[in-house]
Amino acid sequence: MGPPCHARPGTALPGLSSRDVSDDPENPEHPERAAVAAFADDFVAGLREWLAIPSIGADPAHHGDVHASARWLADALSRDGWPDVRVWDAGPALPAVYACRPAADPDAPTVLVYGHHDVQPVDPVEQWRYPPFEPTLVGEELFARGASDDKGQVAMHLLGVRAHLAATGATHPAVTLKLLVEGEEESGSPHLTRLLDDHRDDLACDLVVFTDTPLYARDAPTVCTGQRGVYGAEVVFTGGASDVHSGRAGGGVPNPATAIARLVAALHDDRGRVRLRDFYADVVEPTEAERADYAALPFDEAGWLANAGGARALSGEPGWSTLERVWVRPTAEVNGIRGGYTGPGLKTIVPAEASVKLSFRLVPDQRPEQVADALREFVRAHTPPGLRSEVIARGDGAPPYAVDVSHPAVGAVRDAVEAAFEQPVRFSRTGGSGPAALLHDGLGVPVVYLGATLPDDRIHAPNERVVVPLLLRGAEAAARLWRLLPERLS
Ligand SMILES: [Zn+2]
Repeated sequence: MGPPCHARPGTALPGLSSRDVSDDPENPEHPERAAVAAFADDFVAGLREWLAIPSIGADPAHHGDVHASARWLADALSRDGWPDVRVWDAGPALPAVYACRPAADPDAPTVLVYGHHDVQPVDPVEQWRYPPFEPTLVGEELFARGASDDKGQVAMHLLGVRAHLAATGATHPAVTLKLLVEGEEESGSPHLTRLLDDHRDDLACDLVVFTDTPLYARDAPTVCTGQRGVYGAEVVFTGGASDVHSGRAGGGVPNPATAIARLVAALHDDRGRVRLRDFYADVVEPTEAERADYAALPFDEAGWLANAGGARALSGEPGWSTLERVWVRPTAEVNGIRGGYTGPGLKTIVPAEASVKLSFRLVPDQRPEQVADALREFVRAHTPPGLRSEVIARGDGAPPYAVDVSHPAVGAVRDAVEAAFEQPVRFSRTGGSGPAALLHDGLGVPVVYLGATLPDDRIHAPNERVVVPLLLRGAEAAARLWRLLPERLS
């Protein structure tokens, strides 16, 4: 356990005013909210226990902790009365937790909630205000690695189910609930497709609720409807066997660094569009309704730039807003260029080798393998005579995913979030990537998103935190969703 909790037990958490939760807990309009409030202290105590387990997937020294984290979750689910709880830890994969809680009605829809319990490394640890694995509650913020990404959001679902049962007074949920909490998401979910295949019957469902994305902003809650995919590769140009004196051979041999610069310069046209063959051929544009929603979201340019590494100006593809550029348009980015001499002073050489690391963010219906083919073709076309080129893929990449916003489950999520947050809720997307497409492809069902964290939770960075009252609202939204879904999906 970490340092003493800053919130006094038994009091409402800051940020949830008494009007919100306890004015009239019997109010039939808000049975889910009253139930969430009743379990709130218990929820925070449990989450702090879980967050104290340093389940860093990237570090083999912490793999024992990833196992401990899986066991903690399995025990918590059993304590909550989930009748079927299993830890899947066969093979090389880090452990995933599976659980099932059937509806009373065998014809009720089945929903699989997806999340992950592995966390990012904590370096540089000296920049943390509180030790990353001593969860510390300061006001309404809970600081710990994994608080937002993604243990807080998984715990939110456990609370949501408790609240759903308490609010409906039922012993079984209105939908059959399944939970898949994987242990390798931060490593790119390398075994998820195999896991879906190996456990096809256990995981069979009508819908996936993906819980690893944020709201747009605290005062502008949104329902995410998609994530971009990603493909990354390194391009290496090699000339001679070694660097050579630029006075002796310069002007007489091709320069790999110049060739890499030309390749990079050729990657975009003057309007910023990517020049790989057919790069835009399969791009599906958002609907007018989605674009209207994006346009209606508050956008503070200075604040956005500050969160974009302190960039000094917006730039990008003409005809699209900044949110659209990062949510629904594909990109090619230069992540790094290497080649020749970069030390102090001058060294007059023609380098033997130069390289560039590239990453592409992809949108539906682009496929990483098609982009990989087009990149290889582009590199061949831009390799000058006398140089050897090599394209080294960084994994298979991740396909993009977006759900059809007219699907009734999307409407149900939107209504549930709107009711819980008591604010108009619009659609958003995230520019980052995740395994939603793998879940969609592997299980053959739509994936909808339910998240209650914030973009400035500092995930993957020092001082990760989660805003506890938002998790409580998220749990309430989940509880409302389980009540809504049987009718909406019938
Ligand atoms: Zn995550």
